[in-house]
Amino acid sequence: MRIGVFKFASCDGCQIAFFDISDKLLDIGFQIDYFVEAQSENIFDNFDISFVEGSISTPDQEDFIKKIREKSKKLITIGACADSGGIQSIRNFMDFGQILSSVYPSSEYIKSLEKSKPVSDYVDVDLEIRGCPINPHQLYEVVVSLYLGKTPSLPQYPLCLECKRKGNPCVLVLGKPCLGSVIKAGCGALCPSFNAGCYGCYGPVEKPNLYSLGEIFREKGFGDLFEKILTSFNAYNRVYRERYEKG
Ligand code: SF4
Ligand code: SF4
Ligand code: SF4
Repeated sequence: MRIGVFKFASCDGCQIAFFDISDKLLDIGFQIDYFVEAQSENIFDNFDISFVEGSISTPDQEDFIKKIREKSKKLITIGACADSGGIQSIRNFMDFGQILSSVYPSSEYIKSLEKSKPVSDYVDVDLEIRGCPINPHQLYEVVVSLYLGKTPSLPQYPLCLECKRKGNPCVLVLGKPCLGSVIKAGCGALCPSFNAGCYGCYGPVEKPNLYSLGEIFREKGFGDLFEKILTSFNAYNRVYRERYEKG
């Protein structure tokens, strides 16, 4: 099975999950043809699976993701940047010209798209692996399932279910902000298990009740924290941005 791992606008953190499972991948005979982060010789040809990290943020990236799609039987996005635009998509809600001139003294040299968008805005995506960063166990589940010709099993239910299965006391009830009821499970309820709130790096479930959780946040005195969290890791996820576009 021929694999490509590609990076766009991102911090490289999700690609690290491949190093976590690299021994297992080699044991089952994966051939990694393209992975610039990991090897100096890379072949850009046909891929059985392409894994894509990062959002599409420049005109060159827009061209390259289309080439990758043409060469790939399956294209899987890894992490909040690729799935939902990432932290860098905060700029999508600001004045682009103003941001450029405030960061760069000579912004005419910058070739950037006005918005940082998810990969799925440009090409068909077969599967999203969520998180910031992704969970290596989920990555392994995906690669092995595809190798065996099975459909990967990734949770589509909210984090609260995972959290309750672990027997955690609810940190939201105890007065900490937690997005568990509106975002996807998969991290093992990591933050609530350490008595910390969840800021939703796995991104929304298909139909989250954002209105109700926003009300709870306000009732608990968190001010506009709910809005701020939604415009962070997964700021340009379709579910969140539809909310902004509706006003
Ligand atoms: S999703 Fe998070 S960890 Fe992954 S590349 Fe983006 S910023 Fe880095
Ligand atoms: S701590 Fe968060 S994830 Fe856990 S049950 Fe409460 S709201 Fe849900
Ligand atoms: S608990 Fe929330 S913020 Fe923490 S890792 Fe899981 S999804 Fe991300």
